[in-house]
Amino acid sequence: MRKLPLFPVTSVGSWPRSPELQRALARKQRQQLAPEEFDRIADTAVLEALRAQEAAGCDIVTDGEQRRDNFYSFVAEKLEGVRLMSLAEMLDIVEDKEGFRRILDTLDVPAFSIHNPTCVGKIRRREPLALDEYNFLRQHTDKPIKVPLPGPYILTRAMWVKEATRSVYASKEELGEDVVAVLREEALALREAGADFIQFDEPVLTELVFTQGQTRTFMCAALAARKDPAAELEFAVELINRVVQGLDGVRTGVHICRGNWSQNEETLLRGSYQPLVPYLERLQVQQLVLEYATPRAGTLVAVAHKELGLGVVNPRTPEVESPEAIVARVREALRQLPAERLFLNPDCGFGTFASRPMNAPAIAQAKLAAVSEAATRLRSEHR
Ligand SMILES: [Zn+2]
Repeated sequence: MRKLPLFPVTSVGSWPRSPELQRALARKQRQQLAPEEFDRIADTAVLEALRAQEAAGCDIVTDGEQRRDNFYSFVAEKLEGVRLMSLAEMLDIVEDKEGFRRILDTLDVPAFSIHNPTCVGKIRRREPLALDEYNFLRQHTDKPIKVPLPGPYILTRAMWVKEATRSVYASKEELGEDVVAVLREEALALREAGADFIQFDEPVLTELVFTQGQTRTFMCAALAARKDPAAELEFAVELINRVVQGLDGVRTGVHICRGNWSQNEETLLRGSYQPLVPYLERLQVQQLVLEYATPRAGTLVAVAHKELGLGVVNPRTPEVESPEAIVARVREALRQLPAERLFLNPDCGFGTFASRPMNAPAIAQAKLAAVSEAATRLRSEHR
């Protein structure tokens, strides 16, 4: 692993996608764009996202997830046995149509941006999930690279649509076995290729504790969620730990937030990470990448022996936080954690769903630059 300074600055993953790239993603999905043409547009977008992070002073860079339509459903293209289903198609097949309609009514993401990666056959890696993204980025930067991957819990939960899946897998647990295998295979390939940091995104873990299993976010496949949030959290811990077991030589992390699909803070979930701590403590990853830049996140919880990727700027607001405010936030965290265990990042990605970026690239860059400036000031105090 490449050496890092104190308070390494990084992003959570996604970067806003340009209108040209959004059109290209949509046309590729409809098979109206040749793969080489898509790659040409996406390569340019990745390099722009990379240069913006480098200019902002990031110590660890990502490819901005420019080739993905969002952080998890992109796997449908890469895996055998997974098909993107529109909400209308899902409504057609689910038995509990009333329950599904109720969930659709409470959803506050544009339904057009949701296509659920549904398991319809035995799943297997047809092509790498992110190795190609990593290899491209590696050719264009000497900086340490973080690769975000959807976590095994969100993937299993999204892919498991009983009516479509049960003829292949008897249970969600059985599907989970193959999801673990696929992600582990990818993680080993990324380590082999020299990736510095693999981040697994598991945003819905908070939903389990804040809503007691009552879905009100974008995870429509949560129809499959068990009634008991504690059992779901146990399942999530088990899946994540099986993916990362013995995965030395590469930093691993889990990102958990409260949703990042709307600029209206009121619609996003609220609550402290505290109820999750007993589960977070048992995750066999080095780092927890958590949001702390909004009052919705409550007070900081330090999890023993783990690094914290501290969210210090809000990816959804137009105002750029001042370096002073960021330094003050970090100083507060330093009361609970040593400097060696603190990384600095925004609360979540700047892009999330391709069709609804959370911010403009210039603001994203300015926010990361403010974080870098704060890190520089903090480093002069901690050597
Ligand atoms: Zn997030």
